[in-house]
Amino acid sequence: MPIQRSFKTVAAANGIATDKAFGAVTPPLYLSSNFAFATFEQGQDYEYSRVANPTRDILADTLAKLEDGAGAVVTSSGMSALHLLLSRVGPGGLVIAPHDCYGGTHRLLAALKERGQIDVEFVDQGDSVALNAAFGKEPQLVLVETPSNPLMRVVDISAIVERARQGKAKVAVDNTFLSPALQQPLRLGADYVVHSTTKYLNGHSDVVGGAVIAADPAEAEALAAWANTTGVTASPFDSYLTLRGVRTLFARVERQQTSALAIARFLEQHPRIAAVHYPGLPSHPTHDIAARQQSGCGAMLSFELKDGLHGVRSFVAALDVFTLAESLGGVESLIAHPTTMTHAGMGPEARRIAGITDGLLRMSVGLEAEEDLIADLSQSLSAIG
Ligand SMILES: *Cc1c(COP(=O)(O)O)cnc(C)c1O
Repeated sequence: MPIQRSFKTVAAANGIATDKAFGAVTPPLYLSSNFAFATFEQGQDYEYSRVANPTRDILADTLAKLEDGAGAVVTSSGMSALHLLLSRVGPGGLVIAPHDCYGGTHRLLAALKERGQIDVEFVDQGDSVALNAAFGKEPQLVLVETPSNPLMRVVDISAIVERARQGKAKVAVDNTFLSPALQQPLRLGADYVVHSTTKYLNGHSDVVGGAVIAADPAEAEALAAWANTTGVTASPFDSYLTLRGVRTLFARVERQQTSALAIARFLEQHPRIAAVHYPGLPSHPTHDIAARQQSGCGAMLSFELKDGLHGVRSFVAALDVFTLAESLGGVESLIAHPTTMTHAGMGPEARRIAGITDGLLRMSVGLEAEEDLIADLSQSLSAIG
C-alpha cells in the first residue's frame, strides 16, 4: 500500500526501484539523445532528449514534489531558469525585482529592459512604502530572493503574495539559498520557484544547473514547451548528478546549518568582528520573519571585520580549511569577499547603499567538522595584525 511520503523520503527515494528494464534500484542514466520508435506513425513518451529525457524527468518530478508544485523544468543553469521564467512576462510587462538580487539576475533583467523586452523596477522589498509604490504600477511579476545576498535579509513571502493578489501580479521566489528543505514558497502562496541547482540541490560543486517549478499545471506545461523551443533543458548527465546530490539534501543542510549557527555565535562574541549577519541569531533584523516562514536558517552567513580591507587580506591569507571562492551550497566550506568578488560589478556607490562594506565576508558552511571550521576562523582572526 502506498503511504503518504514526507519530503525527506521524496528527496532520498523518489524514482528508486522503478526501472522496468532490469529492476535497477538507482534510476539509470539515459545519455541517449534519441529513442527508437516502437511503432510506425505512433508517438511515444521519449523521442528526443531536448524535449524529454527519462533521467531529467525523474529529477524534475523530484523537484516538483519537494517544492509542492505541479511540475518542474530542469534547465542548463540558474540563469537559464530565470530567463525561462521571464518568458512568462508579456512584451513590456513590468517586473519588480529586489534591489540586492543575485548579480547575474540583475544583469539579465537590466539587459532585457535595455532591449525593450520587459520593464523592470529594482526595489528594496523590505521597505513596505517603496514596495507599495511599485505595486501601484501594476507589475506582471514580482521576483523575490530571500534570504538576500550577502546580508541575509529575509523578505516576508506571504505578505508579498497577499499584496500581489490585490492585482494581477504573479510571484516568483528564487529559493536557491535555502532549498526546499528549509523553505517552500509555493506553500506560502507563490506561483513559481526558481533554483540555481548548482548550489544546495546538487550540493557538490560539480554541476551548473537550474530549475523552475510552477504551482499551476498549465504554467508548468507552458514553461516546458518554451524550454524545448529555446533548448535550455539540462543534459541527462548533469541531471543524474543533481539527482544524486538531492538524495542527501536534508542530511547535508541540517548538519551544515548546525555548524553555521555555532560559527555565527562564535563570530558574534569575537573582538575582531564588527557584525554577523545570520537570520538564526536573535540580533538579526529579520530574525522573526525567518522564524515564521523558514524551517531552518540555512548555512549561509556573512560577517564584517573591524579592520576592513586590511583585515580581510591577512584573514583570508591565513585560512586553511576554508577556500576563498565564489558560489555556495557545496560540501566544502567557502569564503567570498563580496567587494572584490561576487559584488565587484556593482560599483562602490551601489555597494554602499546595499550595506556591503570592504570588511564584509560571506561564508558557505560545508560538512567539515564544526570544531575544525571554528579553529580555522579563530587562527585566521588571530593572524590579523
Ligand atoms: C548562483 C545563483 C543564481 C544563478 O545560477 P547559475 O546556476 O550560476 O546560473 C541565481 N540566483 C541565486 C540566488 C544564485 O545564488
